[in-house]
Amino acid sequence: MGDSKVKVAVRIRPMNRRELDLHTKCVVDVDANKVILNPVNTNLSKGDARGQPKVRDLFAYDHCFWSMDESVREKVCQDDVFKCLGENILQNAFDGYNACIFAYGQTGSGKSYTMMGTADQPGLIPRLCSGLFERTQKEENEEQSFKVEVSYMEIYNEKVRDLLDPKGSRQTLKVREHSVYKVTTFFLISRSHAVFKITLTHTLYDVKSGTSGEKVGKLSLVLTVREASTNRLRDRRKEGRHQQVGFPDAYIYSFIGLIPADQSAGKTRISSSHTDSLGGNSKTAMVATVSPAADNYDETLSTLRYADRAKHIVNHAVVNEDPNA
Ligand code: ADP
Repeated sequence: MGDSKVKVAVRIRPMNRRELDLHTKCVVDVDANKVILNPVNTNLSKGDARGQPKVRDLFAYDHCFWSMDESVREKVCQDDVFKCLGENILQNAFDGYNACIFAYGQTGSGKSYTMMGTADQPGLIPRLCSGLFERTQKEENEEQSFKVEVSYMEIYNEKVRDLLDPKGSRQTLKVREHSVYKVTTFFLISRSHAVFKITLTHTLYDVKSGTSGEKVGKLSLVLTVREASTNRLRDRRKEGRHQQVGFPDAYIYSFIGLIPADQSAGKTRISSSHTDSLGGNSKTAMVATVSPAADNYDETLSTLRYADRAKHIVNHAVVNEDPNA
């Protein structure tokens, strides 16, 4: 149903206990759909060691979720995030699309909180699951039925672990899926991804003719853990390899099926321009999570830049339909 850009949202978490105790400065602000990252040295006229004035970084996104401090402005809560991103994604599943939400950010920035949440404050995944079951139960009748299947996997260092396997044993994926994500780069080594996949099969029966048709919606909910330290990124920049930072996108995209297997399998490199025009079959949203604290400035800047690049990825989603299933 046409091309659509990846919808990008940024969420700013509250200060944690340690940051509050240390009176850590807040360097992040939002203005409507813009995120402002203030330099750690707030005296703009002073400049850095080489006399260069320090500048504010300003990035515009589709949504900015301020969850930092109620005293500055109203906080965006879990329900608001679901209304903004989750409801659309849920509808996509019922319409038979592939849809995907990525959470991306440094450790401790709020990925799990946004995706899973807590018992009191459930995040996107439990809300999507309950929304899905509520609707399938309401709409099931003699003319239509629904089947829901889930999987939850961790991918690290090209190894896949089934998180729903009660034995917790390390298992490799089925060969068919395995071949889909055969993209090898050194960037894989430092990232880990948790992928929660929901497949919704919607079968429509024509009672009179005795025929039936099927629509399959697939939701992929992904937590991507950024490298803990920017040191390795700096090392790569020194080596002139910074232009390749788009690769993990290609990897995870191919894993969740956004790149056809024949395009990704066996490739050892995917250029960043390729990454920018993946044309995956999915409606995709990304939530970049950041800390407001001054001591996370480098990580936050890096996440905001990554999210800025993700805005340019264009996907082409089509309905997964088999009228004569
Ligand atoms: P990550 O998954 O990125 O490592 P977490 O989701 O575990 O980070 O978040 C770290 C801590 O911050 C947790 O205690 C979490 O409950 C809290 N937290 C993160 N984001 C928010 C938020 N938006 N509102 C309230 N608490 C948050």
